[in-house]
Amino acid sequence: MTLPHRVALGTKHGKSAAIAPPLGRIGIAVSVPEGLDTDKFGTFTGEVARLGSMLDAARAKARAACKLTGLDVGIGSEGSYGPHPSIPILPLGREVLLLWDRTTGREIVEQVVDDQPRLASRYVADVDDLDDLIAQTDFPRTNLVVSPAGTTDYVKGLKTLPELVAAVGQAIAQSEGRRALVQTDMRANHNPRRMHTIARAAEALAERLSRNCPRCGSHGWGLVEVERGLPCSACGMPTPLVGNEVHGCTACRHSERAARGDGLAAADPRHCPQCNP
Ligand SMILES: [Zn+2]
Ligand SMILES: [Zn+2]
Repeated sequence: MTLPHRVALGTKHGKSAAIAPPLGRIGIAVSVPEGLDTDKFGTFTGEVARLGSMLDAARAKARAACKLTGLDVGIGSEGSYGPHPSIPILPLGREVLLLWDRTTGREIVEQVVDDQPRLASRYVADVDDLDDLIAQTDFPRTNLVVSPAGTTDYVKGLKTLPELVAAVGQAIAQSEGRRALVQTDMRANHNPRRMHTIARAAEALAERLSRNCPRCGSHGWGLVEVERGLPCSACGMPTPLVGNEVHGCTACRHSERAARGDGLAAADPRHCPQCNP
């Protein structure tokens, strides 16, 4: 199996600016089909519920892009932003890229995490309450979305202060509780930090596509799973940290256990359930 020369990218929000360059460096050109409305696969502001998992959404975009372009290989991209699963006061972002080959049904998946995403939302009852949020979000580089509290009447892509102030004033006036919801615009072309994270995912995918399976020789060798239980450096008990990585190939299903990529061989005792319960 050889690397495709051209892939279809299912995107509407300008993500090819982040995804095409890393793929171009390994000889893969990217085609973005005209007329693909990826919002039907789910939006961040929630007018359309996202069906299934992130992978399902990315898969649907990859397949739609193949259908529209006639190409055999498609890439779908999907992000998920919300509270950190173990520290809910912190935000966490995840970006998934899924490459799908129509001729074999094979999928190659890459994902990266952003623990400092530009993600914030706040209810405001007065335009003067905006200052904190603005300070926190690097507005106007990151655009904002405003709606009357409790409605889905979103005004998206706000990128100047006068626009923002007008939209917030109007939303407060329209809302029953006299409050506006102001949130970061998470669409990639309105959120430079998110675009950067997608670029990191594309770099990681390009790297994975450049590595060949030691058994069948196909491209796409890389991390497919982690095993937790890195031993505590003080008492040797297994901790919840990742102990081993499992690298694998989705063409022949071969996999091999490997040490952590960062070389860490023991966990700080603060992660240990025995030493720091
Ligand atoms: Zn293989
Ligand atoms: Zn310990």
